[in-house]
Amino acid sequence: MKKLIRNFLVFFLVFIAIAALFSSFSQADEVKTVGIETMVQELNDSQIKSLVVTGNEIQVELNDGSKQLVQKESGESLSALLNNFSVDPEKLKTVTVNVKEPSGWNYWLGVILPFALPLILVGFFLFFMMRGAKGMNSSAMSFGQSNAKDFNLDNKERVTFKDVAGAKEAKEELGEVVEFLRYPKKFQDLGARIPRGVLLLGAPGTGKTLLARAVAGEAKVPFFHMSGSEFVEMFVGVGASRVRSLFQKAKKQAPCLIFIDEIDAVGRRRGSGMGGSHDEREQTLNQILVEMDGFEITQNVIIIAATNRPDVLDPALLRPGRFDRQVVIDRPDLKDREEILKVHVKKKPLDKEVDLKRIAERTPGFSGADLANLLNEAAILTAREDKKSIGMAELFSAIEKVMIGPERKSRIINDKEKKITAYHEAGHALVAYFLPNSDPVQKVSIIARGQAGGYTLKVPTEDRYFHSKSDFLDEIAVLLAGHLVEKEIFGEVTTGATSDLRRATAVARSLVTDYGMSDTLGPRTFGQKEEMIFLGREIHEQRDYSEKMAEQIDAEIAAFIAEAKVTADRILKENRQKLDIVAEALLKQETLEKEEFEALLA
Ligand code: ADP
Ligand code: MG
Ligand code: ZN
Repeated sequence: MKKLIRNFLVFFLVFIAIAALFSSFSQADEVKTVGIETMVQELNDSQIKSLVVTGNEIQVELNDGSKQLVQKESGESLSALLNNFSVDPEKLKTVTVNVKEPSGWNYWLGVILPFALPLILVGFFLFFMMRGAKGMNSSAMSFGQSNAKDFNLDNKERVTFKDVAGAKEAKEELGEVVEFLRYPKKFQDLGARIPRGVLLLGAPGTGKTLLARAVAGEAKVPFFHMSGSEFVEMFVGVGASRVRSLFQKAKKQAPCLIFIDEIDAVGRRRGSGMGGSHDEREQTLNQILVEMDGFEITQNVIIIAATNRPDVLDPALLRPGRFDRQVVIDRPDLKDREEILKVHVKKKPLDKEVDLKRIAERTPGFSGADLANLLNEAAILTAREDKKSIGMAELFSAIEKVMIGPERKSRIINDKEKKITAYHEAGHALVAYFLPNSDPVQKVSIIARGQAGGYTLKVPTEDRYFHSKSDFLDEIAVLLAGHLVEKEIFGEVTTGATSDLRRATAVARSLVTDYGMSDTLGPRTFGQKEEMIFLGREIHEQRDYSEKMAEQIDAEIAAFIAEAKVTADRILKENRQKLDIVAEALLKQETLEKEEFEALLA
């Protein structure tokens, strides 16, 4: 669009220039144009000193020195003209008549321009249109080119392993890749085949992209970054040709690093597709495989790919010679979280009393990206409060914001709803407090946050990787507590417990179908998680069990929920007074911290 306007402007200016030029020719130094009759009259009156004929023009100079211009018909000679007007030949004797060859560019322009101007205009039009079309054309051509971002080495934003906190094993593993890139000869001399591809596996935000950049930064080699989804475009065949051009570019710059982010976008298992885009993806994937096989032994290009869905990758990608090295990046544990926080607070002023270890303790399950986000939120909060350095209060507040969503203090709740929320949350908190396998309650609040009307924050005391059946049953009991309290106290339930129930059901289902924790159904899983995309919807589960089994699964899920309900009910009945105390405290001060909550129950 901008280009079009610019073209139009240029065009317009040229037009004006030509028009100006043209008009400047026709108005030669202020000579009055008169009709032929006037000239004839003047001749008869002997007022004329000389006549100069140039083509169709007759320049008349009068005796008093003034000049006039007369247009005559072209092709008609002056004598014939004068004859026609029957001018007295005697009168002409005193007049000098000059006939000039109508020459000079001035004249020719005058003759040619009227014909040429439309042609020139049309020519300009064509020229600009062609140019526009060519521009479009060339951008269509460049579809096939990879637009991989090539990170410059001298870039000030060079990332090294120092910028990646924790992830010790991953760094060790990738340290080897750095060696390969820096001293390939050392390995080649021993006949070792340098690994071609490294696959980084890990949950979103665990630092896969960051690590890949750090490898390039450490090895000091060029780094081509491309996301899997960038290969797939509207046009069929673009992906494959992009892959080709990416690898070509990389080969020219070897040693270097190619990083394909989110490779699952193209590297999904082939042959399971139902939609049209699958052909395109398969072609792209095939091209990646072909390119990876096509390297010379001596070509020192290493490909790092990242995904958080290793389960959907095509097995051909993982075979030796391709992405045979796999580096798993876990969610950071307590110590790693503290390290990551330390990396990210470097440019942020902190209060003296800030203890990052306590923040790390409060954030199990957070990924590196979550932690970076948390510090950013804390900084924003601090700025909003016009403080100069970030304090512990802002950090805690930011944790909750990242976990549950922003506080919505402005949401006006009527007293009835407030009371319901208070009892609902008190119920969650109370059951969590009394169940041995539940995480301790960190905070209870009836301030709306994100989607939730209120929330009970539970934080595990330590990082845990495994969970037992009793953990899950207690979790279900805690989730049901809100619903049960509402029914007990107010006689009916509200929609506020919907997501609790959904979660409880999902946990119970996983217990049966994924973890094999049901005694009646035995140690097996139900349903195959398979990835298929049909009409834009992902169909996840494939049944590998009979109708009869399905009924039993449903019965088993119901049994687990019933069991948890009994537990929750019992705790709530036994502690009815405490429930009132907590709910009242919540109504009064809206938020209870761990210490206040525990003091109330003691
Ligand atoms: P992924 O690619 O795994 O989804 P990224 O590498 O894009 O995650 O990480 C997002 C951000 O999270 C990074 O830019 C960085 O600020 C932060 N981050 C993640 N992991 C770490 C880590 N181990 N050390 C420091 N920062 C991290
Ligand atoms: Mg990433
Ligand atoms: Zn609830």
